[in-house]
Amino acid sequence: MRRWGMVIDLDRCTGCGACMAACHQENNLTAAGPEQTRRDRAFHWLKMLPTESRLGDEVMTRYLPQPCFQCDNPPCVRVCPVHATYLNHEGIVGQVYARCIGCRYCMAACPYNAKVFNWFEPEWPGDMKRKANPDVSLRPKGVVEKCTFCHHRINRAKEEARVEGRDVRDGDVIPACAENCPTQAIAFGDLNDPRSRVSQLVSGPRVFRLQEDLGTEPKVFYLAEKE
Ligand code: SF4
Repeated sequence: MRRWGMVIDLDRCTGCGACMAACHQENNLTAAGPEQTRRDRAFHWLKMLPTESRLGDEVMTRYLPQPCFQCDNPPCVRVCPVHATYLNHEGIVGQVYARCIGCRYCMAACPYNAKVFNWFEPEWPGDMKRKANPDVSLRPKGVVEKCTFCHHRINRAKEEARVEGRDVRDGDVIPACAENCPTQAIAFGDLNDPRSRVSQLVSGPRVFRLQEDLGTEPKVFYLAEKE
Protein backbone atom coordinates (compact mmCIF):
# COMPACT_ATOMS: atom_id res chain seq x y z
CA MET A 1 0.00 0.00 0.00
CA ARG A 2 1.34 3.43 -0.90
CA ARG A 3 1.66 6.24 1.64
CA TRP A 4 2.13 9.55 -0.12
CA GLY A 5 4.40 12.13 1.49
CA MET A 6 6.24 15.36 0.77
CA VAL A 7 9.64 16.68 1.75
CA ILE A 8 10.47 20.41 1.59
CA ASP A 9 14.16 21.29 1.68
CA LEU A 10 14.53 24.65 3.42
CA ASP A 11 18.11 24.89 2.25
CA ARG A 12 16.85 25.08 -1.33
CA CYS A 13 13.64 27.04 -0.71
CA THR A 14 14.04 30.78 -1.27
CA GLY A 15 10.51 31.67 -0.13
CA CYS A 16 9.63 32.97 -3.60
CA GLY A 17 6.02 31.70 -3.40
CA ALA A 18 5.97 30.15 -6.89
CA CYS A 19 4.62 26.94 -5.28
CA MET A 20 1.71 28.87 -3.77
CA ALA A 21 0.86 30.55 -7.09
CA ALA A 22 1.05 27.22 -8.94
CA CYS A 23 -1.26 25.60 -6.38
CA HIS A 24 -3.78 28.41 -6.84
CA GLN A 25 -3.82 27.97 -10.59
CA GLU A 26 -3.83 24.18 -10.60
CA ASN A 27 -6.65 23.80 -8.11
CA ASN A 28 -8.99 26.51 -9.39
CA LEU A 29 -8.85 28.64 -6.27
CA THR A 30 -11.03 31.73 -6.57
CA ALA A 31 -9.22 35.08 -6.41
CA ALA A 32 -10.63 37.00 -3.45
CA GLY A 33 -10.08 40.59 -4.66
CA PRO A 34 -9.03 43.55 -2.48
CA GLU A 35 -12.33 44.05 -0.60
CA GLN A 36 -12.68 40.39 0.45
CA THR A 37 -8.98 40.22 1.26
CA ARG A 38 -9.49 43.16 3.64
CA ARG A 39 -12.22 41.07 5.29
CA ASP A 40 -9.69 38.26 5.74
CA ARG A 41 -11.47 36.00 3.25
CA ALA A 42 -8.59 35.35 0.84
CA PHE A 43 -7.48 31.74 1.00
CA HIS A 44 -4.73 29.43 -0.16
CA TRP A 45 -4.28 25.67 -0.09
CA LEU A 46 -0.55 26.15 0.29
CA LYS A 47 0.48 29.02 2.55
CA MET A 48 3.80 30.72 3.12
CA LEU A 49 4.32 30.56 6.88
CA PRO A 50 6.56 33.37 8.24
CA THR A 51 9.11 32.24 10.82
CA GLU A 52 11.78 34.24 12.57
CA SER A 53 15.24 33.26 13.67
CA ARG A 54 17.88 35.31 15.45
CA LEU A 55 21.52 35.60 14.49
CA GLY A 56 23.13 37.80 17.14
CA ASP A 57 21.21 41.09 17.02
CA GLU A 58 19.78 40.36 13.64
CA VAL A 59 16.28 38.94 13.26
CA MET A 60 15.78 37.03 10.05
CA THR A 61 12.36 36.21 8.61
CA ARG A 62 11.95 33.30 6.28
CA TYR A 63 8.87 31.77 4.71
CA LEU A 64 8.03 28.08 4.91
CA PRO A 65 5.77 26.61 2.24
CA GLN A 66 2.95 24.93 4.17
CA PRO A 67 0.41 22.70 2.42
CA CYS A 68 -2.00 20.41 4.29
CA PHE A 69 0.20 17.97 6.22
CA GLN A 70 -2.05 14.98 5.38
CA CYS A 71 -1.71 13.74 8.96
CA ASP A 72 -1.85 10.02 9.69
CA ASN A 73 -3.78 10.95 12.86
CA PRO A 74 -5.85 13.87 11.55
CA PRO A 75 -7.83 15.85 14.18
CA CYS A 76 -10.05 17.31 11.43
CA VAL A 77 -11.42 13.87 10.54
CA ARG A 78 -12.40 13.09 14.12
CA VAL A 79 -14.55 16.21 14.57
CA CYS A 80 -16.46 16.33 11.28
CA PRO A 81 -20.12 15.61 12.17
CA VAL A 82 -21.07 14.46 8.66
CA HIS A 83 -17.96 12.46 7.64
CA ALA A 84 -17.15 14.95 4.89
CA THR A 85 -13.46 14.61 5.62
CA TYR A 86 -11.69 11.27 5.80
CA LEU A 87 -8.27 9.59 5.58
CA ASN A 88 -8.00 7.54 2.42
CA HIS A 89 -6.14 4.23 2.04
CA GLU A 90 -3.03 5.98 0.66
CA GLY A 91 -2.81 8.49 3.52
CA ILE A 92 -4.43 11.51 1.90
CA VAL A 93 -6.99 13.47 3.90
CA GLY A 94 -9.88 13.89 1.48
CA GLN A 95 -12.79 16.31 1.49
CA VAL A 96 -16.24 15.46 0.13
CA TYR A 97 -17.58 18.86 -0.88
CA ALA A 98 -21.10 17.63 -1.53
CA ARG A 99 -21.31 16.40 2.07
CA CYS A 100 -19.65 19.37 3.80
CA ILE A 101 -22.12 21.59 5.68
CA GLY A 102 -19.59 24.37 6.27
CA CYS A 103 -19.69 24.12 10.08
CA ARG A 104 -15.89 24.68 10.18
CA TYR A 105 -15.30 22.29 13.11
CA CYS A 106 -12.44 20.79 11.08
CA MET A 107 -10.84 24.21 10.64
CA ALA A 108 -10.92 24.74 14.39
CA ALA A 109 -9.45 21.28 15.01
CA CYS A 110 -6.53 21.56 12.58
CA PRO A 111 -3.50 22.85 14.49
CA TYR A 112 -1.85 23.95 11.24
CA ASN A 113 -4.68 26.09 9.81
CA ALA A 114 -4.50 23.97 6.68
CA LYS A 115 -8.22 24.06 5.94
CA VAL A 116 -9.97 27.06 4.47
CA PHE A 117 -13.56 28.20 4.14
CA ASN A 118 -14.74 29.07 0.66
CA TRP A 119 -16.65 32.36 0.79
CA PHE A 120 -17.10 32.56 -2.97
CA GLU A 121 -19.20 31.14 -5.74
CA PRO A 122 -16.85 29.68 -8.35
CA GLU A 123 -17.07 32.59 -10.78
CA TRP A 124 -14.44 34.08 -13.01
CA PRO A 125 -14.73 37.27 -15.09
CA GLY A 126 -15.23 37.05 -18.87
CA ASP A 127 -14.02 33.84 -20.43
CA MET A 128 -11.57 33.15 -17.60
CA LYS A 129 -13.69 30.15 -16.56
CA ARG A 130 -12.47 28.34 -19.68
CA LYS A 131 -9.01 28.48 -18.16
CA ALA A 132 -10.08 26.49 -15.08
CA ASN A 133 -8.35 23.13 -14.69
CA PRO A 134 -10.91 20.52 -15.82
CA ASP A 135 -9.29 17.88 -13.59
CA VAL A 136 -10.20 19.72 -10.37
CA SER A 137 -13.81 20.26 -9.30
CA LEU A 138 -15.10 23.76 -8.64
CA ARG A 139 -16.26 24.08 -5.06
CA PRO A 140 -19.54 25.74 -4.11
CA LYS A 141 -19.64 28.67 -1.72
CA GLY A 142 -19.89 27.65 1.93
CA VAL A 143 -17.73 24.53 2.07
CA VAL A 144 -14.34 23.87 3.59
CA GLU A 145 -11.53 22.93 1.22
CA LYS A 146 -7.86 22.03 1.37
CA CYS A 147 -4.73 20.77 -0.37
CA THR A 148 -5.20 17.29 -1.80
CA PHE A 149 -1.53 16.57 -2.64
CA CYS A 150 -2.81 17.11 -6.23
CA HIS A 151 -4.85 13.92 -5.99
CA HIS A 152 -5.94 14.27 -9.63
CA ARG A 153 -2.28 14.02 -10.69
CA ILE A 154 -1.92 10.84 -8.63
CA ASN A 155 -4.96 9.38 -10.38
CA ARG A 156 -3.56 10.39 -13.78
CA ALA A 157 -0.20 8.74 -13.05
CA LYS A 158 -1.97 5.55 -11.94
CA GLU A 159 -4.07 5.51 -15.08
CA GLU A 160 -1.04 6.04 -17.33
CA ALA A 161 0.80 3.24 -15.54
CA ARG A 162 -2.23 0.95 -15.88
CA VAL A 163 -2.46 1.61 -19.62
CA GLU A 164 1.25 0.85 -19.99
CA GLY A 165 0.91 -2.29 -17.86
CA ARG A 166 3.34 -1.24 -15.14
CA ASP A 167 3.42 0.13 -11.59
CA VAL A 168 3.57 3.83 -10.79
CA ARG A 169 7.27 4.72 -10.65
CA ASP A 170 8.99 7.05 -8.21
CA GLY A 171 8.82 10.52 -9.77
CA ASP A 172 5.70 9.80 -11.85
CA VAL A 173 3.57 11.97 -9.55
CA ILE A 174 4.66 15.59 -9.25
CA PRO A 175 2.22 17.97 -7.53
CA ALA A 176 1.88 21.43 -9.08
CA CYS A 177 3.83 23.08 -6.24
CA ALA A 178 6.81 20.77 -6.76
CA GLU A 179 6.67 21.06 -10.53
CA ASN A 180 6.82 24.85 -10.42
CA CYS A 181 9.45 25.29 -7.72
CA PRO A 182 12.45 26.91 -9.44
CA THR A 183 14.92 25.36 -6.99
CA GLN A 184 13.43 21.84 -6.81
CA ALA A 185 12.92 22.28 -3.08
CA ILE A 186 9.86 20.00 -2.96
CA ALA A 187 10.01 16.22 -3.33
CA PHE A 188 6.97 13.97 -3.45
CA GLY A 189 6.51 10.22 -3.44
CA ASP A 190 5.70 7.01 -1.62
CA LEU A 191 6.97 6.90 1.96
CA ASN A 192 6.32 3.15 2.04
CA ASP A 193 8.82 2.56 -0.78
CA PRO A 194 12.27 2.46 0.85
CA ARG A 195 13.90 3.27 -2.52
CA SER A 196 11.82 6.39 -3.19
CA ARG A 197 13.48 9.80 -3.04
CA VAL A 198 11.21 10.94 -0.19
CA SER A 199 12.06 7.86 1.89
CA GLN A 200 15.74 8.54 1.45
CA LEU A 201 15.33 12.22 2.33
CA VAL A 202 13.35 11.54 5.51
CA SER A 203 16.04 9.19 6.77
CA GLY A 204 18.62 12.02 6.72
CA PRO A 205 19.78 14.05 9.74
CA ARG A 206 18.13 17.36 8.76
CA VAL A 207 14.56 16.11 8.82
CA PHE A 208 11.86 17.52 11.11
CA ARG A 209 8.10 18.01 11.18
CA LEU A 210 6.15 20.97 12.55
CA GLN A 211 4.65 20.57 16.03
CA GLU A 212 5.56 16.91 16.11
CA ASP A 213 4.64 16.72 19.81
CA LEU A 214 0.94 16.99 18.92
CA GLY A 215 0.96 13.39 17.70
CA THR A 216 -0.83 14.19 14.45
CA GLU A 217 1.84 12.37 12.41
CA PRO A 218 2.13 14.74 9.43
CA LYS A 219 3.35 13.36 6.13
CA VAL A 220 4.95 16.66 5.14
CA PHE A 221 8.57 16.77 6.30
CA TYR A 222 11.04 19.64 6.25
CA LEU A 223 14.80 19.49 5.87
CA ALA A 224 16.50 22.10 8.07
CA GLU A 225 18.92 24.55 6.53
CA LYS A 226 22.53 23.46 6.56
CA GLU A 227 24.77 25.21 9.09
S1 SF4 B 1 8.61 27.67 -5.13
FE1 SF4 B 1 10.27 26.50 -4.19
S2 SF4 B 1 11.73 28.09 -3.59
FE2 SF4 B 1 9.80 29.15 -4.00
S3 SF4 B 1 8.79 29.25 -2.00
FE3 SF4 B 1 8.04 27.40 -2.99
S4 SF4 B 1 9.38 25.78 -2.26
FE4 SF4 B 1 10.41 27.71 -1.83
